[in-house]
Amino acid sequence: MNLDRLLERFCRYVKVDTTAVPNAGRYPSSAGQRELGALLVDELDDLELEDVEQDAHGLVWATLPSNARHQVDAIALCAHFDTSPETTGKNVRPTVWKNYDGGDLTLPGNKSLVLRVADNPAMKEYVGKTLVTTDGTTLLGADDKAGIAVIMEAIAYLVEHPELVHGPVRVCFTCDEEIGHGVDHLDPKKLAAVCCYTLDGSGHDLIDVETFSADLAVVTVRGINIHPSIAKGRMVNAIRAAARFVELLPKEMSPETTDGRDGFLHPYHLEGGVAETRMHILLRDFTDAKLVEQEQLLHRVAAQVEKEYPQSQVDVQVAPQYRNMAGGLAKEPRAVAYAELAHKNLGRTAERTIIRGGTDGSRLTELGVPTPNLSTGEQNPHSPLEWCCLEDLGAAAELLVELAQVWAKEGR
Ligand SMILES: [Zn+2]
Repeated sequence: MNLDRLLERFCRYVKVDTTAVPNAGRYPSSAGQRELGALLVDELDDLELEDVEQDAHGLVWATLPSNARHQVDAIALCAHFDTSPETTGKNVRPTVWKNYDGGDLTLPGNKSLVLRVADNPAMKEYVGKTLVTTDGTTLLGADDKAGIAVIMEAIAYLVEHPELVHGPVRVCFTCDEEIGHGVDHLDPKKLAAVCCYTLDGSGHDLIDVETFSADLAVVTVRGINIHPSIAKGRMVNAIRAAARFVELLPKEMSPETTDGRDGFLHPYHLEGGVAETRMHILLRDFTDAKLVEQEQLLHRVAAQVEKEYPQSQVDVQVAPQYRNMAGGLAKEPRAVAYAELAHKNLGRTAERTIIRGGTDGSRLTELGVPTPNLSTGEQNPHSPLEWCCLEDLGAAAELLVELAQVWAKEGR
């Protein structure tokens, strides 16, 4: 891998501000996503890929055609343009630390921000390598420009090495993943692949094979409002009833108290007044059956609150968001098996991991395209303390090159 070129590539992409904007009322939610898409279209054209297109929704598509003499199933590679709105992505100044010495890193644009080894024990693995951080005033955007850079470098490498035999590789870059709209305009038929890999995972050599299953509950509590001066025995305060509702949710089922495979109920938004309050609650678990139990719990709590506050009405509406990809991945076991084989061929060991959240792959898998998630080298996403290692980016690109060849050998 040409690490110098990969570093230039990564730094070029992170400098385009692609911060997602919640509730923007347009798609993509920020102009920078189209701008970065246009830049990539030029680069994909320069590589002479086929079907290069930025579609009406800002998604970028391309095909690296097969160079195999035999029929090989097509695979797809996917990453997202946008960065998290939690930290600004304007004027990103990537800071490169060559031959990292193993110490704490004081970020040059904000000396109060220090990337400490004590808080980031993973840094100890990286002595002597090249790290990229922010200058402390923005996020870095390795989530997910690391994924984009890795895919682009791997494709460039395959184009430059026609002796490496691979099948058709579809490329798709998406918009607004961070605000839950990554797959809104992604037609799985257009992807035309037996499986897809999102490059949107942290660290190295991890294969995310499970995500949460997720529902959203909207709980509306209706009370009776009347002037406080004459309220005795007549007012029913929806704020107090809503507070009781939250109090009745088991504390041991919250994000603050769970990890690993344990799910949670997470009230994260509350608004309203005496007459009516409304709250939004995330339901999360790795099994769909437990999600059903969580929903039943909400209905029991609602009944309890109505009992304690006669004449109040507590309405619970639950809507599905996304589902654990494990079930969908089982339908195309080659997706994960070949990713593991590619690691093995490179003398590396892949670890299967689970994510306490969702990816574009959760929805894509549900739509019939099994989509595990691969490491890109990113660390501390969504934060001014975000960083990534250049050698990890290179290792991720190398993996994709090997993976394309594994599919050509095995995937016929
Ligand atoms: Zn991401």
